[in-house]
Amino acid sequence: MGLLDDWHHCPRCGAPVEPAADRADCAACGYVAYANPAPAACALVVDGAGRILLTRRAWEPYAGMWDLPGGFLGEDEHPLDALRRELREETGLEVEPTQWFGAFMVRYGDDPGARWVLNLVWAAKVTGGEPQAADDVSELRWFARDELPPLEQVAMAEPLAVWLEQAEPQRLDP
Ligand SMILES: [Zn+2]
Repeated sequence: MGLLDDWHHCPRCGAPVEPAADRADCAACGYVAYANPAPAACALVVDGAGRILLTRRAWEPYAGMWDLPGGFLGEDEHPLDALRRELREETGLEVEPTQWFGAFMVRYGDDPGARWVLNLVWAAKVTGGEPQAADDVSELRWFARDELPPLEQVAMAEPLAVWLEQAEPQRLDP
């Protein structure tokens, strides 16, 4: 199931279109739509004690589940500006990215027709602000790595899973 599969009419002029796998061409007006993922920016915010900040989602999809703070980019918005804006809106915190972490592909919801998301993830640190859950977040919490909820209770959890693997503490005992 792809983004354009349900398209039967051009969104600009209303003429009938037959989408191909990755694009829909309107013969009437020349409009072309591409089946691209929706870009988002998220942060792995870690404090001086090594705890990580998770947010609880207020709305569907994944309502009530824990999540990394972040969100979708505006049309002309740089991903790092989106990262700072989303963190400010959702958590009240000013953050600065400290390191690029990775790009992740994920469906936005469990519906088979759910939109594909290109999730751009940075490590980040808090530089100011007062923590306050707001916008599409109902709760904020800092988790030590041994206090994290099971990954099944975390929405779109792959970046967190990779972070946990990479940050695995060195075992000193033989
Ligand atoms: Zn058209």
